[in-house]
This record gives sequence, C-alpha cells and structure tokens, in this order.
Amino acid sequence: MARVLIIGAGGVGGVVVHKCAQVPSVFSEIMLASRTKSKCDAIAADVKARTGRTIETAQVDADNVPELVALIRAYKPDMVLNIALPYQDLTIMDACLETGVHYLDTANYEPLDEAKFEYKWQWAYQERFEKAGLMALLGSGFDPGVTNVFCAYVMKHLLDEVHVLDIIDCNAGDHGHPFATNFNPEINIREVTARGRYWERGEWVETDPLSWSMNYDFPDGIGPKKCFLMYHEELESLVQNLKGLKRARFWMTFSDNYLNHLKVLENVGMTRIDEVEHDGKKIVPIQFLRALLPDPASLGPRTKGKTCIGCLMQGVKDGKPKTVYIYNVCDHQECYREVGSQAISYTTGVPAMIGAMMMMTGKWSGKGVYNMEQLDPDPFMDALNKHGLPWVVVEK
Ligand code: NDP
Repeated sequence: MARVLIIGAGGVGGVVVHKCAQVPSVFSEIMLASRTKSKCDAIAADVKARTGRTIETAQVDADNVPELVALIRAYKPDMVLNIALPYQDLTIMDACLETGVHYLDTANYEPLDEAKFEYKWQWAYQERFEKAGLMALLGSGFDPGVTNVFCAYVMKHLLDEVHVLDIIDCNAGDHGHPFATNFNPEINIREVTARGRYWERGEWVETDPLSWSMNYDFPDGIGPKKCFLMYHEELESLVQNLKGLKRARFWMTFSDNYLNHLKVLENVGMTRIDEVEHDGKKIVPIQFLRALLPDPASLGPRTKGKTCIGCLMQGVKDGKPKTVYIYNVCDHQECYREVGSQAISYTTGVPAMIGAMMMMTGKWSGKGVYNMEQLDPDPFMDALNKHGLPWVVVEK
C-alpha cells in the first residue's frame, strides 16, 4: 500500500493519475499537484467519475525546492512521480533527497536555454541517492522507458548479443488540426529540430535535422510509413548498457503536413529558444508558439488511428544470426474511452504508473539513479500486458 505524489497535470499526468487510481491495491493514496490547481481538480473529478476514488490536489511551483519540500513534508508520500516538464527534474530530485522519498520521471533534464538531451546532470545525483538509500528511476515513459525495457528483455531472453538496434516510433494517428504536437509542444519541437545523432562503432555520428529517412512497413494494418532519424535520449544509456552493440539509431514518423508547418515555423524564427525583444519585453518565440498551439491534453476526443513503437534488434543467438522485432500497438480512441486521453499521453502515462508500481511493490529496488534497462524486465513486461500496453515479439 503506497502513498504517492504525482506532479504535473498535463496530458501525461492525467493518464498517470487514472492508471494509479485503477490499482488501489498498490496506490492506496494519491495526490496530484501542479502549477495550475484547477487542472488537478478537473482530473480528480474525472477520476472520481470513472473509478469512484478521491484524489487529493494541491498547487505547487516545481521550480521552487522549498515549496516542493513543504508539500512533500505535509503529504508524506513514499515516492514522487515527476510528470511535469524536464526543466523541473533537478529541483524535484533535490526535494526528494531533502525529504527522503523515492523519485521517478519520464524525460531527462534539459536546461531551458539549451536543447541538450543528456543524462549527465541526473547521473551526477548517483552518489547522493545511493547515500540517502533512495531510488531514482529515470525515463519511465514509452521512449525512453518501455523501449529500454524491451531491449533488456531481448538481451535476457532472445539474443546472446545485440549488434544493431533500431528504435522505431510511429504515430499513425490523425487529430484533424493543421498543426499540433501530441505532447508538450515546446519539448516536442526542441527535440525534433535538434541535430540528428546515432551511435556506430563506439562513436556518435551527427546528421542535419531530419535529413535521413527510411520506409518501414508497420504491423496491424498501419502499413509503410516514412521514418526520420533523430537523436533520442534513451540511446545514451542503452549504448552503455547493451553489450556488443555496434550501431544504435532512433527513428520517428512525421507526416508531410507536420514537416511543412515545422519548416515554415523554423524559417520565420518561431522555434527559437533564446530571448528576443518584442515591444520592450523579452519573449522566447517557442514559448509564445506554445501558447498558440492546441493543448496536447485536448487532442483525445479528436485523434483517430494507432501508434506503433518498438525495437528492431539484430544479433546472435546460440551462434546463429537472429533478428527480433518487439513492439506495442496502441489505438488512440481506445485510450480515449478508457482514460479520456490520446495514445501518446497514454503510452507515456501507463509505464510511469508501472515504474512506480515496480518500486512500491519492491519488484524493482536499489539505491541510486537507474535507467530502465538496468532492472529486471520480466515483472515490468508482465505488467504492460495487464495494464493496457500488450506487446508482441516477431522473429524476422
Ligand atoms: P504538458 O505540457 O501537457 O503538461 C506538463 C504539466 O506540468 C502541466 O500541467 C504544467 O502546468 C506542469 N508544470 C510545468 N511547469 C511546472 C512547474 N514549474 N511547477 C508545477 N507544474 C509545472 O506536458 P505532457 O503531459 O505532454 O508531458 C509531460 C512530461 O512527459 C514531459 O516531461 C514530457 O517530455 C514527457 N514525455 C515523455 C515521453 C516518453 O515516452 N518518455 C513521451 C511524451 C512526453 P500548467 O498546466 O500550469 O502549464
């Protein structure tokens, strides 16, 4: 029986609260806190209507460590689930250390003025969490998150060595807007406009943003789609933890419509993350753009179609070459029926709940900072099948 504090009441935070509420045997008490309390109250009301459970709510500025510490001391949770933005990772980790509670997030820390996507800031907390006897679980979403666990599962059961890893993320859903992002627009656009990077024979190789593409034929009636090479944060830990790896890449599908809009926004400077002067005030163009774009949490009722995210892994088993594809397919409208959200929020929120469940039931434990592939994949993989993200393995 665990008492948990969830921080962040956006698209993903809403799913995490619904999914935790569905497992009262583990999550006996739940508080949702965020910058805007009315958003927490709206989610709590929806959870009450769907499950009958009461969720406590609170206002907190997660950039402010003393405020976080006061809230944690008052509520006394066993762990904090950070479902706010990557900018808040370090302040929430600091508050967890100060109050002696475990920590989980879904995306690695980014400084506001640099789109860097590196674990170095959070890995630097290893010793402090270890000494405090606390666990920090990093990147417990889908990618990062389930993709790391898929890799650990393949390494444990299906291949003796993995030589080539391709993580392929397809969103074949349609929300009907001319342009919208499926998770926080600022974080999404920072990620997509960054330079591409993949790992080959021990070195990182850079590419121009979205300059490499391939076609991949996705299962479950999705069919062939164009996928673009991008850098994605789970590659950084996977290349350290998958033994024998020679190449690791990450691919994501984008529609022509999305790419055309993005190009224009970039060309006119709307995706800039530095401050510019406007009417005597400093504004950051991407933050202004975020205010204009549809809220990802509002896309649920209008998004139709499926997502398919998986790992294609080539390697060796019993001395023979073998290729394995391990994936999940998720339907936007089924997610909406269950928790009122589209599949991108759902596929992130379910693994966040499962990561917390692993920690709170002692199936995953440890002192220090962990990436997902460092822990036993089996109980997590079982939980994916039970809690809405069933997976499939195909030998190619
Ligand atoms: P949203 O923008 O929809 O939600 C973010 C929430 O955090 C909002 O409720 C926001 O408050 C709150 N927040 C922001 N700053 C603060 C602050 N200083 N103090 C308190 N609360 C704050 O984002 P998403 O739900 O789409 O994404 C949430 C996280 O999930 C992000 O870190 C994202 O990168 C990650 N993610 C991970 C994925 C994965 O597979 N691993 C995939 C998709 C997303 P307010 O409502 O007031 O703005």
